[in-house]
Order: sequence, then C-alpha cells, then structure tokens
Amino acid sequence: TERTFSIIKPDATRRNLTGKVNAVIEDAGLRIVAQKRIQMSRAQAEKFYEIHSERPFFGELVEFMTSAPVVVQVLEGESAVTKYREVMGATNPAQAAEGTIRKLYAESVGENSVHGSDSLENAKLEIAQFFSDDEIV
Ligand code: ATP
Ligand code: MG
Repeated sequence: TERTFSIIKPDATRRNLTGKVNAVIEDAGLRIVAQKRIQMSRAQAEKFYEIHSERPFFGELVEFMTSAPVVVQVLEGESAVTKYREVMGATNPAQAAEGTIRKLYAESVGENSVHGSDSLENAKLEIAQFFSDDEIV
C-alpha cells in the first residue's frame, strides 16, 4: 500500500465540487487518510510548483492556485500514485478519459480541478510540505 498527495484546486472548491471529487476518489478504492481546506499563500504555491517556474504559464498557475481555498489530501491504497493519476485523467480535460475527475469536472488545461503526485518520491515530498505525520490517520 502506498500514499499519494492530492489537491482539489480552486476551480473545484469554488463550484462546491469537493464532495463529488471525493466520491470519485473513494469509488476508485483510494482512502482519504488526511484532508484540510487551506488558503495557499503565494510563497507556498511558488514552492509547490517550483519545477514549472520557467514555464510560460507559471505566473497564471500561482495566481490561480491562490485565487480561492484548496483542499489538500493524502490518499492511501494499492499503487496509489499511479491509480490516482488514472482517476484524475489527462492534464487537458479535452483529452481526459470518460469517468475521470478532469473529464467530469475540469474547465480547462489550467483550471483542471485536481493535482496528484507524479511519482512516489514526489508524493513523499509533497505530503511533507502540507502535513505532519500525526495528521495522517
Ligand atoms: P498536476 O501537477 O497539477 O497534477 P499534471 O501533472 O497533469 O498536473 P503538469 O504538467 O505537472 O500537469 O502541470 C501542472 C499544472 O500546471 C497543471 O495541472 C495545470 O494546472 C497547469 N498547466 C499545465 N500546462 C498548462 C498550460 N499549457 N497552460 C496553463 N496551465 C497549464
Ligand atoms: Mg504535475
């Protein structure tokens, strides 16, 4: 069993979709073992998306991620990292498979409702950025 890090992004929290996103997560067999709603600071968003800092959309991405509260989560299950990437669907909702969170709810490639770690190594780093061990149960 494995853990991954998830964010329900501002476009989804704004449209009151937290519960609907969580239903897809739980129906896929992933367990939400930690969850909190936070307002990300600019510094937190810049650090979180540091690897994209040279990309043309970086400013827009930081602006978006701080535009409303997000829900940060730790998900646990068999092959949680790859399973959640499948459940999320492609980055661009136009290319996302039927039944995925992004196909169901995302508005655009930028405002795409959820984040999920892309490797086990990054999952550990991202979880540690937002949760202490005692918050994960
Ligand atoms: P995430 O890291 O959020 O789970 P991802 O791994 O599917 O998404 P990345 O390539 O890591 O996609 O991009 C990170 C985020 O940056 C995307 O989820 C999206 O919000 C934003 N983004 C990516 N490409 C673009 C783009 N061309 N225009 C605007 N925003 C983009
Ligand atoms: Mg990514």
